[in-house]
Amino acid sequence: MPIRPENKARYPSDWKAISARIRFDRAGGRCECSGECGLDHDGRCDAEHAQAHPRTGSKVVLTTAHLSEPIEDCSDENQRAMCQQCHNRYDAPMRRRGIRERMFSAQISLFVEKP
Ligand SMILES: [Zn+2]
Ligand SMILES: [Zn+2]
Repeated sequence: MPIRPENKARYPSDWKAISARIRFDRAGGRCECSGECGLDHDGRCDAEHAQAHPRTGSKVVLTTAHLSEPIEDCSDENQRAMCQQCHNRYDAPMRRRGIRERMFSAQISLFVEKP
């Protein structure tokens, strides 16, 4: 599924590199959520990219969640590497606006490794 043009425009051109740096250099490929999503992980979530999710069992796709608006703010402080379960839960209250949902699925399709 391609990124919708209206969402693509909102990402900075080097966003993929920024996101990779957050997810792999900073987070070490592991979800950085420590309860922001509303789940009690007993510390940091231990979902690791491309591994089976410790709670859901499905393959983890690590994404970057924007902690606050605007989503154009791609500073390190505004981003958190999150597994799809945490990201989904974190964004849920903002779903009404529709934006986050589309960004979320765009990221999932970007980061799923092609076989
Ligand atoms: Zn997580
Ligand atoms: Zn979480």
